[in-house]
Amino acid sequence: YSILAQEDPEVASAIGRELARERDTIELIASENIVSPAVLEAVGSILTNKYAEGYPRRRYYGGCEAVDVVEDIARERACRLFGCRHANVQPHSGANANLAAYAALLEPGDTVIGMRLDQGGHLTHGSPVNYSGRLYRFLSYGLDPKTETIDYDGLEDLARRERPRLIVGGASAYPRTIDFERLASIAHGVGARLMVDMAHIAGLVAAGVHPSPVPYADVVTSTSHKTLRGPRGGFILTNDDELARAVDKAVFPGTQGGPLMHVIAGKAVAFGEALTPEFASYIERVVKNCHAMGEGLVDGGLRLVSGGTDNHLCLVDLTASGVTGKEAEQLLDGVGLTVNKNAIPGEPRSPFVTSGVRVGSAAGTTRGFTEQEFYEIGALVARSVFHAGDENELDGVRVRVRELLAAHPLYPEL
Ligand code: PLP
Repeated sequence: YSILAQEDPEVASAIGRELARERDTIELIASENIVSPAVLEAVGSILTNKYAEGYPRRRYYGGCEAVDVVEDIARERACRLFGCRHANVQPHSGANANLAAYAALLEPGDTVIGMRLDQGGHLTHGSPVNYSGRLYRFLSYGLDPKTETIDYDGLEDLARRERPRLIVGGASAYPRTIDFERLASIAHGVGARLMVDMAHIAGLVAAGVHPSPVPYADVVTSTSHKTLRGPRGGFILTNDDELARAVDKAVFPGTQGGPLMHVIAGKAVAFGEALTPEFASYIERVVKNCHAMGEGLVDGGLRLVSGGTDNHLCLVDLTASGVTGKEAEQLLDGVGLTVNKNAIPGEPRSPFVTSGVRVGSAAGTTRGFTEQEFYEIGALVARSVFHAGDENELDGVRVRVRELLAAHPLYPEL
């Protein structure tokens, strides 16, 4: 950051502080990851200078020859990675990808069924505080209170009664495998389309560790920055030629202006990385490590929602410790473990307080933590929340977190 430090020491210093924070904490936020230096370089490149409204070879600006190559590479790699015919890599984020997919599939006022926010869904799946909930008539499905897994039967009943135009699958805080075949049969059985937002599990899908929604869903949306380990952004996939045209129109000019070509270059690089055997082995470790962390949490006295995990995240019920999600988030921050508070099924507290935390293994696995270390990280989370206010005990956790971090340095090249 030397040029930046000279030109703008204020911003450079804040970036430096963030680098130090990332180096000095164990990142357990399930939606985050750590990109490669190659992705960083692409995102920090001069492609940020270029306007390229439109699509390769059909642009509204001159001088797009080189960026056309970049976008073609990103689209082709996305198609190869997920086994689909069409990819739109322009959405600026997951929320933008979902907005564009809705615009391609729906008219304002149409009935849609999505997963409830407080049971694991995302804001953009119809929350009243999100534009999706204002534009469309969203109804919601949730979890079976006994198993804490998706209540497919309940969803099917609701779909038969309400005859939605679209069902939205996918979640932000769901630790189990999602049955996309079942979702498709429910949607198509009532004449609805299925959209799957695979943002959280895209890396697992790419590596074949979670079943792919691509063969079942009419449209698949995703972010590129979670388990997929690319730059912050979104993309949309479909196998249907007519929908492909509708999606492209809905992204540009429907909901966005010029694409972020530097970010698309970062996506291209990340998709290339995700096509390698090393990435598949990384994702296998992500899932094993998450399982190990779950065992550490349970052995430490905490309960996992649904009794365990099949993917990269655990939803932890803190009730036994007497600490709220909000308190746990702050307390864990103080010992070098970064998590986010999260509602649990049947949540008695407000979304600003909650009774749970969500923890994930994607970033820590990139950093190099092993299964044994992840078991210990789970145990350290439990030890911290059961000893809230006991500074001696928390100091012990702090020391151990520092030792774990020192064994796996982050971005030594920066
Ligand atoms: N969809 C799901 C399932 C998510 O979990 C998220 C982010 O957490 C998004 C969409 C939104 O992505 P973004 O933050 O890039 O808008």
